[in-house]
Amino acid sequence: MSLLKTKLNRRKFLAYSGGTLAAGAMASKFSTIKAVASEHGKQSKESGSKTVPSACAICVNKCSLFADVKDGVIHKLNPNHNFFKSRSMLCARGNVGAKVPYSPDRLKKPLIRTGKRGEGKWKEVSWDEAYDYIIENVIKLINKYDNRSSIAFASTEGLQEEFFRHLTSVVGSTNSVRHPTLCLASNIQGYSSVYGTLPDADIANAKFVVMAGSNRAEAFITPDTIDLAKKHKEQTFVYLDPRATKSAAIADKWFPIKPGTDMAVVLAMINVIISEELYDKEFVNKYTHGFDQLKEHVKENTPEWAEKESEIPADEIRWMARKFAENAPASVWYPGRRSSFTANDVYYRRACAILNAIVGAWDRKGGLIPKSGISLKSHEFIFPLFGRVKSRIDGGKVSFAADVLPEYIKSNKGMPKDEVAYLSEADGSWVLFRDAILKQKPYPVKGMFVYKQNPVESVPNRSKTLEMLKSMEFICTIDIQMSDTAWYSDVVLPESTYLERWDPAHSLGGVAPVVIFRKPVIDPLFDTKSMKDITVDLTERFLKKDEYWVDAWEEDKAYMRDYVKTFKGVPMSHIIKHQLSDYPGAYKMLMEKGCFYKTDKIPYGKTLKEGARLKTKTGKIELASVRYPEAGLYALPVYQKPSEAPQGKYRFVVGRHAQFTQANTQNVPYLLEAYGHYTNMLWIHPKSALKQGLNDGDYAIVKSSVGEQKVKVHVTEYTRPDTVFYLHGFGRLSKWLTNVYKVGASDAEILEDYAETISGNALLHETFVEIKKA
Ligand code: SF4
Repeated sequence: MSLLKTKLNRRKFLAYSGGTLAAGAMASKFSTIKAVASEHGKQSKESGSKTVPSACAICVNKCSLFADVKDGVIHKLNPNHNFFKSRSMLCARGNVGAKVPYSPDRLKKPLIRTGKRGEGKWKEVSWDEAYDYIIENVIKLINKYDNRSSIAFASTEGLQEEFFRHLTSVVGSTNSVRHPTLCLASNIQGYSSVYGTLPDADIANAKFVVMAGSNRAEAFITPDTIDLAKKHKEQTFVYLDPRATKSAAIADKWFPIKPGTDMAVVLAMINVIISEELYDKEFVNKYTHGFDQLKEHVKENTPEWAEKESEIPADEIRWMARKFAENAPASVWYPGRRSSFTANDVYYRRACAILNAIVGAWDRKGGLIPKSGISLKSHEFIFPLFGRVKSRIDGGKVSFAADVLPEYIKSNKGMPKDEVAYLSEADGSWVLFRDAILKQKPYPVKGMFVYKQNPVESVPNRSKTLEMLKSMEFICTIDIQMSDTAWYSDVVLPESTYLERWDPAHSLGGVAPVVIFRKPVIDPLFDTKSMKDITVDLTERFLKKDEYWVDAWEEDKAYMRDYVKTFKGVPMSHIIKHQLSDYPGAYKMLMEKGCFYKTDKIPYGKTLKEGARLKTKTGKIELASVRYPEAGLYALPVYQKPSEAPQGKYRFVVGRHAQFTQANTQNVPYLLEAYGHYTNMLWIHPKSALKQGLNDGDYAIVKSSVGEQKVKVHVTEYTRPDTVFYLHGFGRLSKWLTNVYKVGASDAEILEDYAETISGNALLHETFVEIKKA
């Protein structure tokens, strides 16, 4: 493949990626933000300077920080040097967090829709009016459908999500759907089937790292990202991706792998390591189960076979396998978060986990490390046991699970057809959940609460999500900005930003766990509340409605009164003290140092001690799974050849950029400026562009079986000729996202909605598109 021979000109590549700054374009946005901040400063009763510990909330990393506040206005956010996970830095998004409370696009008061859904007509209401409207609609739906599960709850992770989940229990619904099946559910499932947990990678000490698709240099800035950048002289870093990303730019070798064939490379590496007897015999004998089955299973998976699949030369695969074994246990096939690529994603993740295991790179310096945490005390609440409740809409036997599999995998015996094999009760499966709502099977779901999540832009097949919202009789969204989902809601509640509220303590698991928390850096600017206050207020109001409790016991109301008392009467600092009460001195350390930890050293080898057991059925590392055959699945990872692009079509791949957290920060002008392009662009290879009659800067229509989008063309050799890409999070529908409304193209609009049926994860690399000049 010609791209293999392409030498990356690093300087040229980075120059492109930085883009050209069009500073003028956003100037008026910046001055509006400054004006809001200055106005707030004038109104603030505070004077003088203070430093307040808190934690960033702009991505899942939750980096601890200290905020510099002057005269009641946030002056700057600084990294907390005690928080070793962020390696003494805040990324661009973390820095820009200082401007978030002052954004003119923030939600400032509760809103009730007055026009048609999506028309954008709202009236500002008081919190009391909003709560009355919600209570009335919830009770109406429960009575009409005689079922509390007729109201669904969608959310994404965060320190206040716990309170949203309390609200789910207060309403009594079983239908909660969370972000993991749009993200890392297949990764968790695949690795857990081998190790009983999703491990982290000890990148700081790894000598040989292979990363497939997890574009760390342009995704969340994590310790791994920083360590990779720092270590690149001492570490060999191999990167596999159909696109040359910034991770490719810092890699020692980049292979533009054919999408969907990563497992072929992993199986071939296992084949080389076993056939050349490079595996760690002592480790395999002592800690693993199923090696002989594995040996037999990979016999045919030679590097030559894998070359035909992946287009990576056999010699290179052999080299990778030998280096992987030679550097073990300081070798890592990177297990980082990444959405499912293709329909056999769980088997692929299993293969990656197995590769690390056979060289003994598990729970040892430089290898994969089991996650650990600091366990915090929680308040145990007893939520009502209502009578009018049905089991989850996407659980149990859902006869249409097979409908969501791509054609090429339907005949595969090791894929479940009727149900998601390992559906998480708490998280559900977004694709199946939405289908079940649309089919009203096994029962109608007609109401929805959405917290912080934006399914309109996050779930593949946007038209279907809009259809689902249209079918709802009531939608309430809680957010800090008018997300696309809020735009189609009936009532929108404005949440206080993370810099204006208390959040409970939270243990960040990982190779070295640490506890963070949040306390208000400034007073709330507008008429906003935290999710905690919203849940408590609604619970209090439900307690006043006798008709709400007809299917509950009298004690349930008493338990809920206790619940309200706990959170209404008690300051968050007391709750945090309770959470940390097992650790003397921890509260003081948290308040003074901004975080609490027991050690910043990685505790290697805990799972290798005599008598230790992993959370697998055998207690060992399961190279051959014991549970999977019981569920009708393959015990070992079976490779499934991906489908070829139909004539005249291209495989569409998705990806992220360091300035944008999922679909959340595209509207922030400072980040748009740092990104440099202000819109997303279609990456297309010169040969393909020629075929389609496209030049750099033209506009193209990208069309799949579910939708089409118009997007600016970027002709580049940094993608394969059979693959096209554009960035997630643009082409938005909410007019109140003023910087990205109808700017660029939405990937949710064109992604077809397939699901991986072992974990329920949405499949993001199974869509083929036509491309025409606009
Ligand atoms: S990586 Fe950046 S956005 Fe994420 S929590 Fe840390 S500073 Fe915030």
